[in-house]
Amino acid sequence: MENILIKIREAFLKALYPESENCPVCKNQLKDKGLPVCPDCLSKIDAINPPFCIKCGKPFFEGEHFNLCPDCRAKRHFFEKARSYGVYEGILKKLIHEFKYNKEKRLIKVLGEKLSEAYERSGFSGIDLIVPVPLYWKRQEQRGFNQSLLLAKELEKNTKIRVEEVLARVKSTEHQTSLPKSKREKNVKDAFEVRKNADIKGKNILLVDDVYTTGSTADECSKTLLSGGADMVYVITLARG
Ligand SMILES: [Zn+2]
Ligand SMILES: [Zn+2]
Repeated sequence: MENILIKIREAFLKALYPESENCPVCKNQLKDKGLPVCPDCLSKIDAINPPFCIKCGKPFFEGEHFNLCPDCRAKRHFFEKARSYGVYEGILKKLIHEFKYNKEKRLIKVLGEKLSEAYERSGFSGIDLIVPVPLYWKRQEQRGFNQSLLLAKELEKNTKIRVEEVLARVKSTEHQTSLPKSKREKNVKDAFEVRKNADIKGKNILLVDDVYTTGSTADECSKTLLSGGADMVYVITLARG
């Protein structure tokens, strides 16, 4: 019964106010039209705080005091360090979904700010270049945009470090989220290439993606960049799966 009432209320709100004037998370009407999500929802997104894995940034439960998470102890990553703004759940997950799949492009400002905050908190320094994780051309055509590139552009505005699309996705891969952990590494193997004429020799690169899950994509991109001559690769994502 309660569900029906919520649906009726949503339908009413939708009829009363065009979608663009409602918070994409709670559907309440936005008072501040300049902000694409209500301040209430925005304030509920928590940043990842220590303790976390010093390598991949995975948050530890309270009372756990390791340097490395089990995953990083078992396996060597190609990137130096990875950090994310928050955990991939709740409102942050919802916002990323709205942004990617419902093409709520207004959210880019808010998400870009979160990504910039994650970068500031990361303490990464000496970065020469920001590189977005590319999409396969067909997927980019379907979606109409590459979310990682849009995020990277926001970071460029805030950090003044330039973005260059030096990576290309040369293999159509399945959505990592739809695959079991064991298959993700294989799925992205040899999926990337450094574009011809890209100059990454000796550069410290900041790789940007929306979500870090098992790290397979970040690792494969890092491996490709390092074999193309990059010096070091750091990874920054909005969320951590
Ligand atoms: Zn809201
Ligand atoms: Zn780790």
